[in-house]
Amino acid sequence: QSQEVSQARIDYHVALQALQEHGTRMVCSGKMHTDRICRFDYLCYCSEAEEFVFFHSNSSVMLPNLGSRRFQPALLDLSSVEDHNTQYFNFLELPAAALKFMPKPVFVPDVTLILNRFNPDNLMHVFHDDLLPAFYTMQQYSDLDDEARLVFMEGWGEGPHFDLYRLLSSKQPLLKEQLRNFGKLMCFTKSYVGLSKMTTWYQYGFVQPQGPKANILVSGNEIRQFARALMEKMNITKKDEYIVVFSRSTTRLILNEAELIMALAQEFEMRVVTVSLEEQSFPSIVQVISGASMLVSMHGAQLITSLFLPRGAVVVELFPFAVNPEQYTPYKTLASLPGMDLHYVSWRNTKEENTVTHPDRPWEQGGIAHLEKDEQVRILASKDVPRHLCCRNPEWLFRIYQDTLVDIPSFLEVLKEAMKARPNLKKTKVTSTVHPGRVRDPQCQTSVQTSNEAKLTVSWQIPWNLKYLKVREVKYEVWIQEQGENTYMPYILPQQNYTFSENIKPFTTYLVWVRCIFNKNLLGPFADVLMSCI
Ligand code: UDP
Repeated sequence: QSQEVSQARIDYHVALQALQEHGTRMVCSGKMHTDRICRFDYLCYCSEAEEFVFFHSNSSVMLPNLGSRRFQPALLDLSSVEDHNTQYFNFLELPAAALKFMPKPVFVPDVTLILNRFNPDNLMHVFHDDLLPAFYTMQQYSDLDDEARLVFMEGWGEGPHFDLYRLLSSKQPLLKEQLRNFGKLMCFTKSYVGLSKMTTWYQYGFVQPQGPKANILVSGNEIRQFARALMEKMNITKKDEYIVVFSRSTTRLILNEAELIMALAQEFEMRVVTVSLEEQSFPSIVQVISGASMLVSMHGAQLITSLFLPRGAVVVELFPFAVNPEQYTPYKTLASLPGMDLHYVSWRNTKEENTVTHPDRPWEQGGIAHLEKDEQVRILASKDVPRHLCCRNPEWLFRIYQDTLVDIPSFLEVLKEAMKARPNLKKTKVTSTVHPGRVRDPQCQTSVQTSNEAKLTVSWQIPWNLKYLKVREVKYEVWIQEQGENTYMPYILPQQNYTFSENIKPFTTYLVWVRCIFNKNLLGPFADVLMSCI
């Protein structure tokens, strides 16, 4: 991996002339700053000013051409976290003629992806905010391949998980601080700026209390393909049946870990192994996790590694006293994505005598000594952290950084109950995710029986894709609406035609919709509405 950006691969004079003549070109996708990704030719960066620069010439392009709306609030989000005001991207503008008076630019020949990492110190954030979004942004643009260069502009150092970022391409990623080494003015021949938010499933509580995103667009399939690609790069191979306890050794401890391990081994008659970020390399942890039947851990970023568990595995997340598992669900949401095929269970310490608090620690590790006495008393008496916003709520930090003596009987009880309800993976596997097409050739006929009785016969053909599929259950849904009414009657039918006579009035116009449903929940589109005049 070469640290230097090679100048040999491009003809410097040709590049400089192109920049001077054509200036910068930008074409973006996305309607808003929150869903925008921009592709640039000759986007430049001035390390002195710490600003990106767009050079205008007669043939430069800026699409969307927002004028000063570009600053309301920004052109785009540079991280995958939606509309975070510390993560905005914009550039300064200059006429290309100004180049004559500027330091000679250094050209970056690689196709570059420019982004902000959101919190590179925390493993959950590394995967959810950076690695998955970067991986799929790269899949979206075919020239962002294994040779692509990543540039991290958030301004942090490498951080403890830099090796993971290195897996995204064969070239060493660059940090903002390293850009100075390339001179005062560097120009990216071809670059993309911004990250796709398509794969994120969690919002951290900046504007409303944390929780799953409102409109999740990723399924377990994409998460697993990402996991497989990463595992290939880490040279990971498969193993047999055992349970993993992911242990934390500095904060939020399980105080009786040995006892917990013994209990698990006895209950499930399986080997139990422990892993920890403090003691092992990340690839060796993934090696262990990727073969495990169950992963047990305190709530915390290390649980993001459940995306490497095999299908059918169980994720057991432990919560300290006064922390409601339903309110902190990044890992539950992940495990429950359709097609992730993980079984998620949470356990919560309900016994106050089994918790160890740390009121005297610094505030960011949950200390409360800096608070008013009344507030300390209130927090100590509270048995449930109320809903709150990110990121400095002292009651939340106090409770989430408690150590816990896990009550073994109640823990095993929760686990046994959950295992009973565990879905059969074989059954879920045959459930494909192929949706039905429209029903074909829908028709309806009416007949008047008497002055107050009528019949409506609806028929249709199977969707075109059904003849190539093995589907466990095929049903049809028919909606009948009297014209002008705003309610409709829904019917679920196994066959391809039906004659309705109940609630059908003569001399009335009905609107009829028909769609196909596979396996109870895979809905197809409705066929064009039928109109029946009786
Ligand atoms: N961490 C760890 N062991 C510990 C405490 C933290 O490995 O005893 C890791 C944790 O998995 C995360 C990072 O250090 O990647 C920051 O931990 P923190 O408690 O701040 O965040 P959380 O785990 O609550 O997301």
